Amino acid sequence: MKRMKKFLLERKKAGTLRSLTPLIRLGHGWLRLLDSEDRLLDFSSNDYLALSEHPEVIGASIKYLEMFGAGAGAARLMSGDLEINHLLEEKIALLKSKEAALTFGSGYLANIGIIPALVGRGDLIITDRLSHASIYDGCLLSGARTIRFRHNDLVHLEQILQEKRSQFNNCLIVVESIYSMDGDRCPLVELVQLKNRFDFMLMVDEAHATGIYGENGAGIIEEDKVSQEVDIAMGTFGKALGSYGAYAAASQELVDFLVNKARSFIYSTALPPAVVGATLASLFLVESEPQLRIDLHAKVAFFKKQLRKNGFQDDPGPSQIVPVMVGESGKAMAIAEELRKNHIYVKAVRPPTVPEGSARLRFSITRYHQEEDLKRCAQFLAASCRKISL
Ligand code: PMP
Repeated sequence: MKRMKKFLLERKKAGTLRSLTPLIRLGHGWLRLLDSEDRLLDFSSNDYLALSEHPEVIGASIKYLEMFGAGAGAARLMSGDLEINHLLEEKIALLKSKEAALTFGSGYLANIGIIPALVGRGDLIITDRLSHASIYDGCLLSGARTIRFRHNDLVHLEQILQEKRSQFNNCLIVVESIYSMDGDRCPLVELVQLKNRFDFMLMVDEAHATGIYGENGAGIIEEDKVSQEVDIAMGTFGKALGSYGAYAAASQELVDFLVNKARSFIYSTALPPAVVGATLASLFLVESEPQLRIDLHAKVAFFKKQLRKNGFQDDPGPSQIVPVMVGESGKAMAIAEELRKNHIYVKAVRPPTVPEGSARLRFSITRYHQEEDLKRCAQFLAASCRKISL
């Protein structure tokens, strides 16, 4: 169709065309693109703790697959409510210091289910300008008025609350504890202080924090000691926990409410048993082996040191997500291509995923990366940037 051809051509010209690249995983963070023999080290994976390949996680997944079958067979409210889902939810609730939890098919499904369940027409949502697409889609679906505040700018947020809060019935504030593309942290301690002055519900997306931060790996809400002030802690199983799916942890009443109102929960098949088994095993490892996250943080610190050594002065932020800003999409693509020639697989993140003019290489550091790899990566990155004349 003409319209689609035009769209695709325009994207291609702007250097923002998205396309799929089939690959084969070789293990330990290495992969090979289907059309090439080159081994590439993956710097784009969210499998931060390397749990997707952990023998105990795989073992539990196989066990649950054999015991309970390949699929749940139905939605939770039909006949898909296997007991194992409740085990998983109890474990999550405990980890997040909440009364209860509810699982969803994915983080995307969680956000587009939770937000419209909590607010609707006549209500107000205030969210960070850099919130994930799934949060925005949840806001859109809800029909509530949505206002964005400047990234991590609580003065701006307070201004919006002062001006607008009284004009709406309910108010929901949605933030991420670690921002997915910038790797920086939301100032949660200051944010919860606003709760004393304004009436709102607070939802925190811990997709990139669960399993990695806090004394027990519960996330930033644990590290910042604000678990009780956060009304809904949402997170995913598909990142540090190495499996798939997502959760909302909250009061029992709020979870009961979601069971009745969150359409992406009600009308979607329950998680496959193998996924529940894998997630339970990952949660057990997060609980029993804090060394996993200690290792990861050490690797992150090492990589950042290597970046500085190679002339990158910009503050890369405080987390395992390390963005290297490029600006122009074409240049970001060219640098990623150069890196690929040196066995480094990193994706250029471009608009519309990130704001116009802020194309970047987003390195995500995982436990698969060895110090030698991280050193090599920083050196090749510096050389590639020089070559593309950044
Ligand atoms: N929230 C955030 C902050 C994310 O980064 C992501 C995934 N990129 C999601 C939600 C969606 O999670 P999932 O991949 O499980 O759908």
